[in-house]
Amino acid sequence: MVAVLALITYQFLPEGGWWPTVMQVAIGWTGVAAILIGAHRMPRRDRLPWWLFAAGVFSNATGIGVAAVAAERYGLVDLPTPADPFFLGLYPACAAGLIVLIRRRNPRRDWAALVDAATITTGFGLLAWVYVIAPVNLGDPMDRAAHATQVAYPIGDVLLLAATTRLLRSGGSRGAPFWWLTGSLAAFLIGDSAWVILDNLGDTGTVLIGTPWFSRALESVFLVAFLLFGVAALHPGARAVAGPTDARPASLGTGLLTLLTGASLIAPAVLAAQTASGTVSDGWSIAFCSATLFLLVVARMALLIREVETQARQVRALARSDELTGLPNRRAWNDELPRALERARRDGLPVAVAILDLDHFKSYNDTYGHPAGDRLLKEASAAWHAALRDVDVIARYGGEEFVVLLPAAGAGDGVRVLTRALTATPSGQTFSAGLAVWNSTETSDELLTRADTALYAAKAAGRNRIEVAPNDRAGAAAA
Ligand code: GH3
Ligand code: MG
Ligand code: MG
Repeated sequence: MVAVLALITYQFLPEGGWWPTVMQVAIGWTGVAAILIGAHRMPRRDRLPWWLFAAGVFSNATGIGVAAVAAERYGLVDLPTPADPFFLGLYPACAAGLIVLIRRRNPRRDWAALVDAATITTGFGLLAWVYVIAPVNLGDPMDRAAHATQVAYPIGDVLLLAATTRLLRSGGSRGAPFWWLTGSLAAFLIGDSAWVILDNLGDTGTVLIGTPWFSRALESVFLVAFLLFGVAALHPGARAVAGPTDARPASLGTGLLTLLTGASLIAPAVLAAQTASGTVSDGWSIAFCSATLFLLVVARMALLIREVETQARQVRALARSDELTGLPNRRAWNDELPRALERARRDGLPVAVAILDLDHFKSYNDTYGHPAGDRLLKEASAAWHAALRDVDVIARYGGEEFVVLLPAAGAGDGVRVLTRALTATPSGQTFSAGLAVWNSTETSDELLTRADTALYAAKAAGRNRIEVAPNDRAGAAAA
């Protein structure tokens, strides 16, 4: 409310005299006070970035007063004026504050976000170089300090732009204070860009700056920037802006994608503009930035591809393992079994499979509760896994049924290993198992069906035992 009132009041101040200047500085200092009050409310460790912002805004706002005094009292209007160091103080202070803020939000390095920020900075950096920085050195009878001052502003803007885009790409809180803060930085950048454009417009620019309503509007952009900083800091949620987070960084939305595309096209656009005007004066700079942008896009692509590959691996692993026990699930088993049979065929070795089913598990659930049942499933599968040989594979087939692949095992080995597992079953529980040795001609399904039939026989025979399926081929031979 105070901010809006101050802005409206400023529009109606009479022209001339000290009032507009006093008002601008007062609004800037109000913003600083608001930032300091907001920072004071935060825990000590969250204050640093806000102190840096306060320093930057204070420096910049004070510069307005210094500029007016220097011009009106001492006639100092040529660059560098005493006000320039004050104005310029904004950039390093705010950039430092933003870097601290970004580090707090994302303690781990985020390469994709860094590449995005570098892309935007390179694109707009080229614009600043070609249209603002490079022309400064051409022939003007200005001394070195004046050159340096003039060049420092666009460099500061590019620095601020880089930090702001990196902030926008950071993960973490995106509440109102985050947007007030970004809005404030955007206002500074818009105001500065407007100055640059006006500078490059020649006479039209001079006329526009001389127009009272226009200069008021332009000055107001900076006042908005001062005030938004304060509003951001005063917001009750302000401390969350600097909060660390596990959240994924902001995704590649349409807005960001458009901005990245635009930034990447700046170099060819500048080249086209210079070619159309008849002289390509910045060929080397354009070539250098084009190459940099190209490499950044390639880097971004490589990062994305790597991320997709990692996720694909994770999804594959997830799809093949059982959530509760961590064992391979039925899908993994269905892939593994035919392969195991094929291996056994090639090596001429026996292979056996077993189906295990916990005994009276329903009543265990009923007695101790479902979570205890889950715990038993976890502990039992771990115990069985430990009791089996290293080459054996145990998978969760569903519910309280498990399947075991026993490579290079005949009936004798199979029963021995499974008996070890049966004894290892925790909480005094037991299982019944059906064991079938592959007859070297049957399919995986036929083999499993025989094991299942043997399991039923084990249940029927009183549970807590391992039943071996009769071998059909051997049976046929005996007959
Ligand atoms: P049997 O000795 O004949 O095998 O008796 P049972 O009670 O073990 O067999 P039944 O098939 O009647 O019951 C199996 C129970 O397993 C029923 C179901 O609630 C329980 N169950 C299946 N999956 C899970 C699970 O993931 N967690 C828990 N806690 N229970 C499960
Ligand atoms: Mg069952
Ligand atoms: Mg059971």
